[in-house]
Amino acid sequence: MVDCNQLQDNLAQVKVRISRAASSVDRDVEEIKLIAVSKGQTREKILFFKKQGIKIFGENRVQELLEKEEHNDGLSWHFIGHLQRNKVKYLVRMNNCKLIHSLDSYRLAKEIHKRAGKEKRVMPVLIQVNTANDDNKFGLSSRELPDLLEKIHNFKYLDIRGLMTIAPYSSDPEEVRPFFRDLRLLKEKINQQGFDVKELSMGMSNDFEVAIEEGATIIRIGSALFGERGGI
Ligand SMILES: *Cc1c(COP(=O)(O)O)cnc(C)c1O
Repeated sequence: MVDCNQLQDNLAQVKVRISRAASSVDRDVEEIKLIAVSKGQTREKILFFKKQGIKIFGENRVQELLEKEEHNDGLSWHFIGHLQRNKVKYLVRMNNCKLIHSLDSYRLAKEIHKRAGKEKRVMPVLIQVNTANDDNKFGLSSRELPDLLEKIHNFKYLDIRGLMTIAPYSSDPEEVRPFFRDLRLLKEKINQQGFDVKELSMGMSNDFEVAIEEGATIIRIGSALFGERGGI
């Protein structure tokens, strides 16, 4: 059985944390989109949060996303995990897959562009940057970003909306603040060079307040909403 009170409590607490963080830096909470990361969580819990007004769910594996989508529950999705080129077609075909957060190579960009063209849709994407240069994480380095942008900015079936990063886990979120700040500075820099990207996807259960203080427009929250992940 799902403990609805617990989930409702979790959501209320996350909302309080979001608004406190936003007001501490004079930001409007409306600027911050909450993505409920539903990987490893049950359909029951997902539907509960949908009823509570959560608009977008995040998944990091294509297979799991497709399985969840088979229920036709009328959900909207963001894809947040590492994406293999042979899986791109499944995401691009789903009109309710609204954003891919994890574009991390030219080859992947070419594939998304090609598949989106076939579906006659313009696919919204974020470019994932490995701001911490963490060997265990995907994403390009900050140095590689200008070159990638140069190569893909005129791909007409790609809509580059912004940047995404995953900070290394730390028990003290202050330690990861520099990585969030770097992503914001990177966005400012590319916008000065003539781009106009709006989104910064950064911040998870453990560190989203700091991310909001540094300018996050999209936060990806799993365990703080759903509780710990189990298998499904
Ligand atoms: C799992 C995951 C999250 C959510 O993590 P929590 O710590 O449970 O909030 C956010 N972003 C990505 C890319 C993830 O894979």
